[in-house]
Amino acid sequence: MEELSEEQSQQLQVALEGLLVALQDDLERSAAAGQAVDLDQPIGRLSRMDALQQQKMVQAQRARVQLRLGQVKAALAAFGRDEYGECRLCAEPIGFKRLSVRPEAPFCVQCRSRAERS
Ligand SMILES: [Zn+2]
Repeated sequence: MEELSEEQSQQLQVALEGLLVALQDDLERSAAAGQAVDLDQPIGRLSRMDALQQQKMVQAQRARVQLRLGQVKAALAAFGRDEYGECRLCAEPIGFKRLSVRPEAPFCVQCRSRAERS
């Protein structure tokens, strides 16, 4: 896999900074929706189940966003160490193609698929 050019790496840094803001926004907006359903509220049994279901979905979504936010922050920190774009497992370049889809990707395709199989 090719190392990133200066231009590619700048482009990805901008993308990561945009992602950071968007994900933080997302978490702020969903904070209220993820709060506990008040079980004392006099709502019907079905709508209570709906509310719990909805709450679970919001919480699962928030967990995914938080995980991604952590990866974005780690990727931005890697810029400071001049390690951005290297796989955190094998230290090979992750490659621009993959990073342009997921600029926060911590692993190369090989390590990622190895981790998914195990
Ligand atoms: Zn790797």
